[in-house]
Amino acid sequence: MRICRFNGNRLGLVEPDGLTVLDVTEALDVIPNQRWPLAFGDPLIAHLDAVRSRIEALLPTAKRLSFNDLSIDCPVATPSKIIAAPNNYTKHVEEARADVGINFGAPVMTIAEMGLFLKASNSLSGASAGVTLPKLDRRIDHEVELTVIIGKQGRAISREQALDYVAGYTIGLDMTVRGKEDRSWRKSYETFSVVGPWFVTADEIAEPGNLDLSIEVNGQVRQRSNTSSLIFDLPRLIEYASAGYTLFPGDLIMTGTPEGVASVSDGDVLHCTIEHVGSMNVPVRS
Ligand code: MN
Repeated sequence: MRICRFNGNRLGLVEPDGLTVLDVTEALDVIPNQRWPLAFGDPLIAHLDAVRSRIEALLPTAKRLSFNDLSIDCPVATPSKIIAAPNNYTKHVEEARADVGINFGAPVMTIAEMGLFLKASNSLSGASAGVTLPKLDRRIDHEVELTVIIGKQGRAISREQALDYVAGYTIGLDMTVRGKEDRSWRKSYETFSVVGPWFVTADEIAEPGNLDLSIEVNGQVRQRSNTSSLIFDLPRLIEYASAGYTLFPGDLIMTGTPEGVASVSDGDVLHCTIEHVGSMNVPVRS
């Protein structure tokens, strides 16, 4: 299934063509009400099996809408955290070492040396809202990344079991102010984690370790690679992250960006594509 959030917290099932959305908002009724303290994580993802069953029942009578007429929000509303992988493609590590505009003279380490980092959840944005550039006289780059949605709580997850913890896959943009400051500061500005346009449930992606991904900016290809080039592949990332953090349903893991990062400007349109997941057009505004 491809599931989207649209027009202010409505739930949609996206047909395989990506053009038609069935309004299945009523399926949200299966999510139990919570009292304080709320559980960490995203309730839609935590109850995804029940939601999916209800969606199936609603499909025959669901209202059909045109995807292009909808305002598309980030499909995961309240992740407890956004985990991100630095320097996880060799050719991106090489470009960062070669370009002082990326590394600002700092040593460029590998993911095994650096560990992971967190982006603040305030930085989430959806395909329609896109990126709003902060008023900074600084280089701001796109980083397109396969983004994993964790489906159930886990800690110290083994590599062998890691994919059992995945609810689905989506496209992530890890927007970045270049500079010397800590990543969690430079990458957590409002709208700097664009996720969407929908998520694809894990059962539809047979080989997450072999997906083409790309980004075009105003029609020009900037990044193009395949997840087979990840240094830490997806099972390793889940193992690595869960060795430190308890993972909760809805947690997002941005798996790292390939070579070709470059700056964006007001008015740009970022066309991001991941094989078997889909595409999203993301506007950049100042
Ligand atoms: Mn990144």
